Amino acid sequence: MESGYPVPVELAPYVNSNSIVVRSPGRINLIGEHLDYNSGFVLPAAIDKAVYVVVEKQDPPFYSLHSVDFNETADIPVADVKPAFGHWYTYILGVVAQFNATGRSVPPFKMAVYGDVPLGAGLSSSAAIESAAAFSINELFGYGSDRLQLVKMAQLAEHEYAGVKCGIMDMFASVFGKKGQVIRLDCRSLEYAYFPLDLQGYEIVLIDTQVKHSLASSEYNVRREQCEAGVAMIQKKYPAVQSLRDATMAMVNECIPQDDIIYLRCKYVVEEIERLVTGCADLERGDVAAFGRKMYRTHEGLSKEYGVSCKELDYLADFVAAHPEVIGARMMGGGFGGCTINIIKKEAVEPLINELLPLYKRDMGLELKYYRVNIEEGTSRI
Ligand code: ADP
Ligand code: MG
Repeated sequence: MESGYPVPVELAPYVNSNSIVVRSPGRINLIGEHLDYNSGFVLPAAIDKAVYVVVEKQDPPFYSLHSVDFNETADIPVADVKPAFGHWYTYILGVVAQFNATGRSVPPFKMAVYGDVPLGAGLSSSAAIESAAAFSINELFGYGSDRLQLVKMAQLAEHEYAGVKCGIMDMFASVFGKKGQVIRLDCRSLEYAYFPLDLQGYEIVLIDTQVKHSLASSEYNVRREQCEAGVAMIQKKYPAVQSLRDATMAMVNECIPQDDIIYLRCKYVVEEIERLVTGCADLERGDVAAFGRKMYRTHEGLSKEYGVSCKELDYLADFVAAHPEVIGARMMGGGFGGCTINIIKKEAVEPLINELLPLYKRDMGLELKYYRVNIEEGTSRI
């Protein structure tokens, strides 16, 4: 299946009659934060920033990998595939290793990579490069893996070759994205459904705090434990509850003392699942304003109850909340830095950013960045 996306000029010199070009996008998540490990839902979408690869077979027994962005080439002997932590090509080797592990010894190939997903900004450029590698290798050698198998290979590549024990959302969104639609992914069953995101004169803008506090990974583990502790408390009375997905607010109120921090953590999760489900109904009705209000409440919950925000994220969320042209905003991702996701009236984007830039610089001492994004197709050949 070929799409209408153009080959980026940066990759044109690598394209010939034997090569395959694949585009795999970055992603956003509209609502449903910290729900994946609670067997809840997420609501991601693929964006108009992507990683592109050109691949072709070659005879010399190497994987010849070239990054246009880093202007660097690595020739990895076919017999020597192992993690290269910290290097851009580890993600590609990680994918090769997954094909090898499933009995398909990947023959030598040449791959050139170029992308415009900002690195490390929370748009999952790593999932984009992994998904592009998995899809293109599968096409080049005719392996016939389906999209979900490619997603799982990309996820394992991230676990084993980047050392990041991520969930499945990022790769899933990159590979399964659809133009103008968000994906409601059930993290328990992996069932998914598309919902239209008709923005009606509004636009999605990510505002990048330019900070990443080191608390992120330790607090992530603490939150997981707190959720498990909450489930254990509820299970004493309701043994069928396996995760917070199965819990209701009535159960939380009944089983967890309200002065226990675990109460607030669980309250956020149970309410966020509810917000996501009813938010999808908002989208089906075309009511972006109602959806946006839920995003603001998600931010409140993440900041005041779940405790994963930081002063920079709160600053950005508070700033836009005072502007009626911004109908929804929240921190996006694990927290303690990264971006906020905002739904802003198109013509208000530039003036709002121009107002915010100097204030953020004055108050936080940092130069913020922002990215306007559109929702586009997932991984495809171009
Ligand atoms: P995120 O996934 O949030 O963008 P990560 O740190 O997980 O951040 O992944 C970023 C890494 O992915 C980069 O440091 C680089 O190694 C790799 N990567 C992403 N995009 C490209 C690209 N266009 N070319 C080469 N490597 C890339
Ligand atoms: Mg990543």
